[in-house]
Amino acid sequence: NSVFAHVVRAPEDPILGVTVAYNKDPSPAKLNLGVGAYRTEEGKPLVLNVVRKAEQLLVNDRSRVKEYLPIVGLADFNKLSAKLILGADSPPIQENRITTAQCLSGTGSLRVGGEFLAKHYHERTIYIPQPTWGNHTKVFTLAGLSVKSYRYYDPATRGLNFQGLLEDLRSAPAGAIVLLHACAHNPTGVDPTLEQWEQIRQLVRSRGLLPFFDSAYQGFASGSLDADAESVRRFAADGGECLIAQSYAKNMGLYGERVGALSIVCKTADVASKVESQLKLVIRPMYSNPPIHGASIVATILKDRDLFNEWTIELKAMADRIISMRHQLFESLRAKGTPGDWSHIIKQIGMFTFTGLNSEQVAFMTKEYHIYMTSDGRISMAGLSSRTVPHLTEAIHAAVT
Ligand code: PLP
Repeated sequence: NSVFAHVVRAPEDPILGVTVAYNKDPSPAKLNLGVGAYRTEEGKPLVLNVVRKAEQLLVNDRSRVKEYLPIVGLADFNKLSAKLILGADSPPIQENRITTAQCLSGTGSLRVGGEFLAKHYHERTIYIPQPTWGNHTKVFTLAGLSVKSYRYYDPATRGLNFQGLLEDLRSAPAGAIVLLHACAHNPTGVDPTLEQWEQIRQLVRSRGLLPFFDSAYQGFASGSLDADAESVRRFAADGGECLIAQSYAKNMGLYGERVGALSIVCKTADVASKVESQLKLVIRPMYSNPPIHGASIVATILKDRDLFNEWTIELKAMADRIISMRHQLFESLRAKGTPGDWSHIIKQIGMFTFTGLNSEQVAFMTKEYHIYMTSDGRISMAGLSSRTVPHLTEAIHAAVT
């Protein structure tokens, strides 16, 4: 008899489980709108040309070896990542008071940041938006933080509950950590305006809250790397401290390479170097040091002007295709006369639309139309194409009428 005979089967991950169910469906009409990964108009995964080029350069460079990286990863990658999110002329970079560690994509960066805070920061409570990416609660709880939420989404307007957000952050204990999505909030696609960001920044600073930015979609939301980093840049420029978790999964299409970075902006260079020494103690017993390949691809692209420019063009093409899908779906629902106001489809930003469909309607669409999505009604616009918009329109129409 197995010593593990008592182990009970765990439920599928609510997001990754959608793909498991999709894979089992034999219908040729099936459509996977659950997965948070870019697909081409033909429904295929995409490797960017610029990534292929960088990989070729790496392969041809016979001087490259497979030695271990340092605990905090590839130095070039770290410098260039900080510059990418904050801008080259950002005060923390100029004053050398930022420390950056290459981590395992966005998830790993959040986890390392969370553990560092649980060990070295005086306030263990982190406030996350309601709703948020499903993994946040688990990542931060296991890191040793206590997770609370602040109001974010208003189902009535399918927009931001700005008053609720301000009230909740105002009543958070001084010093509490606040998780903010840098742009393209997942799952709602609802972001604060720049004026609202400014009010959030003032409130966060006046209450002495510690901002922790999750930047999983820089450049992927609007098509502009600078515009999508504006929220973070304002916080980094005001002299205060913050943490930033960056992911290259979506914006460089490096999902499975697990490339990301954790940056901690400090008040002085001396504090930043001490913080870095402690980050090493968090990372070393967790996975010793990060993988070399993906970070080398990113560094190769970021440090070469031509490759960088080529990347921005390919990135914008991905963002534009998603934005075009929003318009096509919206127009298609309108043309069909589907009841309801669907303008949130074109107002929301980033990879996802929070449709407002409830879990029964989602179940109906899966059963009758073989359309797969998370039960909260979130659909990945990247999984949609001109060819599949009519099928989705039919399904939504049937679900709401
Ligand atoms: N944070 C948010 C808001 C996300 O949507 C995701 C991915 O879906 C991540 C973090 C982490 O992604 P990864 O670990 O693949 O970089």
